[in-house]
Amino acid sequence: MLDCMKKRNDLLGETVVKNLKMRQMDAYYVQTKEEALKKALELIPADHSIGWGGSVSVGEIGLREALAKRGNPILDRDSAKTPEEKDLIQHQILSCGTFLMSSNAVTEKGELFNIDGAANRVAALCYGPKSVVMIVGINKVVADMDAAYSRVRHYVAPVNAARFCDATPCSKTGTCADCLSSQTICCQMVTTRYSRIPNRIKVILVNETLGM
Ligand code: SF4
Repeated sequence: MLDCMKKRNDLLGETVVKNLKMRQMDAYYVQTKEEALKKALELIPADHSIGWGGSVSVGEIGLREALAKRGNPILDRDSAKTPEEKDLIQHQILSCGTFLMSSNAVTEKGELFNIDGAANRVAALCYGPKSVVMIVGINKVVADMDAAYSRVRHYVAPVNAARFCDATPCSKTGTCADCLSSQTICCQMVTTRYSRIPNRIKVILVNETLGM
């Protein structure tokens, strides 16, 4: 990374951390995936049960494996053998100790913006788990809510549609058609502008490109 880019990212990171804290969210800015993993392990109690909502960024820093190795109880919906068992685990995750996720976008003012199809991820973000730890690459920081909406609708959602389904307009064209397809992954759009419970949401902002 060029020095000028690092300098800009460091200044931006400090600003976003300050603005997240003003919204009663805990926040940290780190340089690397390795530092992000270390900070996340510090923030998550060893006895907390762990759930997650399908985050590429969480996977990229190796957090799930590190928590399992440390002995935290893991609620892994992908380990379910039946749809009923998967549904049960997803409900158990709503009252877990720490929920892991990223954010689809974070504004410079410290607002979080997330889009969800099944809604299990945004449900856990809003209410339930004692703590939410977010791993967020600097690539997800945007100027404002208009930019957050545009990023998520025109980039994140079509990429996720390409991962999870093939019947939405965006999975065929790469652009959002504001569809009402039964497979749409754009059912819930959640803006988090404040945490009523101080420091329940902990954002680790990383000066690397993570997720999408
Ligand atoms: S609204 Fe439909 S077309 Fe647009 S991104 Fe979401 S799933 Fe794709």
